[in-house]
Amino acid sequence: MTASSLDMNKQKGISISSLLQAFACSRQYYFNKNAKWKSSDTYTICKQVSCACNIHSEEEIWDAICLIHPEISPDSRDFLSSCITAMKHAPVRPWTDTDITVKSKKVGLYGLLDKYDANTGECTLTRCCTAPKTGCWPEDAIRTAALLLCVKETCSLIKAGMYIEYIPSGVIRYYEPNPKDRRRIVQTIHQIHEIDKGAFPPKPLHPPCSRCRFVEKCNGHEPRKLSALFKK
Ligand code: SF4
Repeated sequence: MTASSLDMNKQKGISISSLLQAFACSRQYYFNKNAKWKSSDTYTICKQVSCACNIHSEEEIWDAICLIHPEISPDSRDFLSSCITAMKHAPVRPWTDTDITVKSKKVGLYGLLDKYDANTGECTLTRCCTAPKTGCWPEDAIRTAALLLCVKETCSLIKAGMYIEYIPSGVIRYYEPNPKDRRRIVQTIHQIHEIDKGAFPPKPLHPPCSRCRFVEKCNGHEPRKLSALFKK
């Protein structure tokens, strides 16, 4: 990482999306560290369904999505319809605030909380992927733990857990992070700091290579075997 990016992570903290990328594979963080974060079409759709599907028609939701994300493909309309259908029997969590920037100076993290309900003090995370059979995905456990640490410091609000809306599945689950989740955060932050200082991380034990766009780059970084150097 360049000196300026390293300083930025130190001053601003690490974004929760970077933390999650490093959690999935620290090498992915290494290869993607200077890229600009871009909200996905599926997230924009799920977020709008989560915030408006009780109040507005599909047409109105689509109009709002096009306003928020003008370059969205018209093909995404089918995904919106399927999300609305999925959520018919899983009423979205109520909210009074949305897109709240939360930060923990102590931990050195910042991120965006999807929804907060002042009437109950309840926090909600909106996901644009399908739900696992039970509980939440490992990365959502980390996301939830990281957000709650930031919420505690930014809003002086101590919550044991938060709701996770899996919009494409129409499933809402409650998750309480545990010490393992927080330990993983501490370990991943340490790895990020090492990479920021210039270290190239080793391959994790079980990396998600089959759906990784850095495979070529990553293989190119593998140290060459001594025998290969002496091959004629
Ligand atoms: S190819 Fe595998 S090890 Fe390499 S960055 Fe991607 S997920 Fe990580």
